[in-house]
Amino acid sequence: MRSCPACDSKQITNSHRQGFWEIVCLPLMVRRPLRCCDCLYRFYGFSFDAGTRARMRMSLLVLLAVMGLSWGIWKTIDAVITGVTSPTPSKPRGPGRPR
Ligand SMILES: [Zn+2]
Repeated sequence: MRSCPACDSKQITNSHRQGFWEIVCLPLMVRRPLRCCDCLYRFYGFSFDAGTRARMRMSLLVLLAVMGLSWGIWKTIDAVITGVTSPTPSKPRGPGRPR
């Protein structure tokens, strides 16, 4: 049974997830926010229930999507920057036209 790290109470309830860290990253570590009913201390505890496993899969997908999206954005920015900084190579001046 879980207990509060602050007051050692056994009256623990699930706390709402807030922000990217708790919604996406915490489920990957099989953890969820919990709150002590006695002292209202909020902490992260292990969670292996079905909901957490489903969120874990969802978090992985979201994380992969974010990584793919940022990679695409980075490649676009990189292409724009290299296109701006390096001028288009002018046609090399070879020998004159043969007559
Ligand atoms: Zn407590």
